[in-house]
Amino acid sequence: MGIDGASPNLLEKWRDSLPNLRRLSDKGATGLTIPPIPPQTPVAWTTFITGTNPGKHGIFSFATRKPGTYEREITNPGRIKTPTLPEILKRANLTTGLINAPMSPKDTVRGFTIPGFLARDEGTPKPLRIAKKIQKELGLEKIPGDIETPYLKNVQDNPEALLDRAKEITQQLGEAALLLLEEEWDLFMTVFMAMDRVQHFFWKNIDENHPNHTENHLTAKAREVMKTIDTYVGKIADTLDEDTLLIILSDHGFCPIHTEVYLNNHLETQGLTKRHNNKVDQPNSKAVAYGYGDIWINLQGREPNGQIKPGSPYEALRRQIARCLTHLTIDGQNPIKTVKRREEVYTGPETPKAPDLLAIFNPGWQAARHPEILPAKAHGNYVNRTPRWSGGHDGTHDPQDVPGILIVNGPRVKKQRHMKANLWDLAPTILQALGQPIPPHMDGKPLPIWEEQQRA
Ligand SMILES: [Zn+2]
Repeated sequence: MGIDGASPNLLEKWRDSLPNLRRLSDKGATGLTIPPIPPQTPVAWTTFITGTNPGKHGIFSFATRKPGTYEREITNPGRIKTPTLPEILKRANLTTGLINAPMSPKDTVRGFTIPGFLARDEGTPKPLRIAKKIQKELGLEKIPGDIETPYLKNVQDNPEALLDRAKEITQQLGEAALLLLEEEWDLFMTVFMAMDRVQHFFWKNIDENHPNHTENHLTAKAREVMKTIDTYVGKIADTLDEDTLLIILSDHGFCPIHTEVYLNNHLETQGLTKRHNNKVDQPNSKAVAYGYGDIWINLQGREPNGQIKPGSPYEALRRQIARCLTHLTIDGQNPIKTVKRREEVYTGPETPKAPDLLAIFNPGWQAARHPEILPAKAHGNYVNRTPRWSGGHDGTHDPQDVPGILIVNGPRVKKQRHMKANLWDLAPTILQALGQPIPPHMDGKPLPIWEEQQRA
């Protein structure tokens, strides 16, 4: 069971309102999940479902660069390069139910699916028999995975409507999951998405460490969404028999966001980014920040109008940018924790498709979301002090600063606290629990969740 973005501190803070998660935590094993870099929803769930790092599965961002161009495009499950759990299980004649899993690989499932976030036909149950069952029992043709765009667009004017909708889609998904649990399956996966959006928009209402913290009726409504998830967690857990292993986890957590930094303005002061009509002039720049802290060098032989020669000029420029951004100070503070070269972060054949550099921000700060640039000299600091979101995780941030939750329950599961799991450890853990071999290409290792006397 996935609860997208559920933060460990939120679980602690709202403990008294979440009796089911508390009960399952108390009797099972608990800890943290450490997401990949960047800790973004599509990257993290792909890491979960493949057991591999992005250098192998090939999903590096929500919006990635279209190879051989300066254009950006939204990612999709068709780009995943390593086999997913449903594909691996299908080869072993095992059945998967995938309910609203982000990046769901729908064509490869043996079983049933409601495609989730970023998948084609998002929300439409498959196969037809399942669609009919949901139509008949719940009166719904689609089970929306995510809160729809109009609610997101109108959040300033009508935050209550977004929170009401978050609760409603959680209920619909919960009912669909309960209904489909009656089917036959070996692996069943359902992901509640609503808390990701809720925390992005309402983190300042939730976390007293946010500089603009205000507790009000929105805090109560946000907690209501989490309570609704908790109710369905309890209902789902109660349907499982004694031989079923239950894993509850989130793909990442959240940290406060108070300031958004326009990296292209800073690169411009170094003479690296050029502008034309107050837009980034990508073909004539040496380097461009692409949003979410991804930085691309305009490399000869790769970009259509490459400016920088491969080899030592490329390496020298990467060092220069890393130095300049790591030392960037705004009001006496360092927004950027570190700048990583892609090969420091990833291993595997897809690594050359990653951004050349990743600027990893300290909590509180994040990169602008697009390859954009502010008008010159408009703001000395080139920042936005009133970002649309008050909570974040994908700025990009250090996975250790935004861990997710992990609760494991089931037969012979050893009671323990403080487990720390890389997200790529979960697929091997699930395969082991199903008695399946773990493919050697996987980066993760099965988690030590079993009582030792029972299981080697
Ligand atoms: Zn997420």
